[in-house]
Amino acid sequence: MKEKTNLQVCIIGGGASGLVAAISAARLGASVTILEQMDRVGKKILATGNGRCNLTNKNVTIEQFHGKNPKFIYGAFGQFSVEQTLNFFEMLGITHKIEEEKVYPFSDQASSVLDVLRYEVNQLGIKEICGAQVIEIIPMKTKFELHLKEEKILYADKVILATGGKASPQLGSNGSGFALAEKLGHTVITPFPALVQLHLKSPFLKRLKGVKFKGEAGIYKHEQCLRKEKGEILFTDYGISGPPILQLSRLASQALHQGETPWIKLNLFPQISYEEMDLLLQTRWGYEPEKPLDFSLVGLINKRLIPVILSEAGITQLQKPCGQVTNKERKKLLKILTNWALPIVGTQSWSQAQVTAGGVHTKEIDPKTMESKIIPNLYFAGEIMDIDGDCGGFNLQWAWSSGYIAGKWSASS
Ligand SMILES: Cc1cc2nc3c(=O)[nH]c(=O)nc-3n(C[C@H](O)[C@H](O)[C@H](O)COP(=O)(O)OP(=O)(O)OC[C@H]3O[C@@H](n4cnc5c(N)ncnc54)[C@H](O)[C@@H]3O)c2cc1C
Repeated sequence: MKEKTNLQVCIIGGGASGLVAAISAARLGASVTILEQMDRVGKKILATGNGRCNLTNKNVTIEQFHGKNPKFIYGAFGQFSVEQTLNFFEMLGITHKIEEEKVYPFSDQASSVLDVLRYEVNQLGIKEICGAQVIEIIPMKTKFELHLKEEKILYADKVILATGGKASPQLGSNGSGFALAEKLGHTVITPFPALVQLHLKSPFLKRLKGVKFKGEAGIYKHEQCLRKEKGEILFTDYGISGPPILQLSRLASQALHQGETPWIKLNLFPQISYEEMDLLLQTRWGYEPEKPLDFSLVGLINKRLIPVILSEAGITQLQKPCGQVTNKERKKLLKILTNWALPIVGTQSWSQAQVTAGGVHTKEIDPKTMESKIIPNLYFAGEIMDIDGDCGGFNLQWAWSSGYIAGKWSASS
């Protein structure tokens, strides 16, 4: 059914970037409509930061952003910085607090972030149409024809594509924006999951499920260390998880995507040197040389890890008196304790991923306005673009900044 409704600025996707784009365009006087395919807007916002919404980070630098051209972020961040974002949210009612540079709403509720955004959307008279999935965008002479799955056609002067990527499709972002962008002539860098748990191929995983330790993980490709991160690491039945692993996962995912086998190397004792660890073992074994080897490690290492670590070190006699451990065996054990190498064979699926790496090539987008260089009056906002950030509030900051700018320029030009 053709409907001759004409929308001035139409935002496809009511996520973090789409909501802020709508607010910024409407504040400049534009008549704005959000088309959202889910039954309500902002579903992903509710899931962010484990329900607390890590809305930004006090220390945003280019190093935390990835893609073919991370410098692309300067255009948006120069016009809508972290300070401006915090001020924007403060004016909406979100007082913030900072925990290790990560910014959270004082309420500790992601729902409060969505509530204030929706309140402002309402106040500004922005139209929200939910259950509206856009399946095709046809650029005409001066307008866009938007085809909805529900066999409805709408017209718009300006379109902002804010459909997100492919991560967590259960929250709305199912990658359909990439198909829309490609059909409009844009290049999409093949997406792969980032900020995602890693799959290991090791026979002991079932036995270690749930074991946690505070250590250091490094990601390696061809024996070259690409990045290291410290924090709580968790073994699962499929592999490994925890904040340091999520932080390293983009590099692993990228290597896998290129057909390579990356490795993770774990250090269970990053706070002390190899030599100190060696001395520590020898001192322990010196106290009671008759103690069974496996029991001699109780109190030092999680008990469920002990048999696995000894077996990984090639020590089969777990109960031999610790005083009889040979130098060669001690060296092998030290290697596992400080540099335990495990091959990464995959990642969890898109439904577990928090972010999409890849997306619409930024060389085809004006960094100052977020307008397409291919189709005039078409804008992009958020994760649909080939920009992704580390864990820590960087992805939402990208969504807020790029959304604000896309909204501003779509309403001003
Ligand atoms: C579990 C989880 C926790 C996270 N926690 C944090 C955190 O604490 N801090 C942080 O910085 N980042 C976090 N992120 C990442 C962050 O949420 C995203 O980067 C950000 O939400 C991206 O915003 P966006 O607007 O680009 O896309 P999205 O928020 O994904 O929104 C896209 C919207 O577009 C809609 N849509 C898609 N296609 C269509 C279509 N064809 N027609 C109509 N509508 C469409 C979708 O339904 C969706 O509502 C987290 C992500 C997840 C999954």
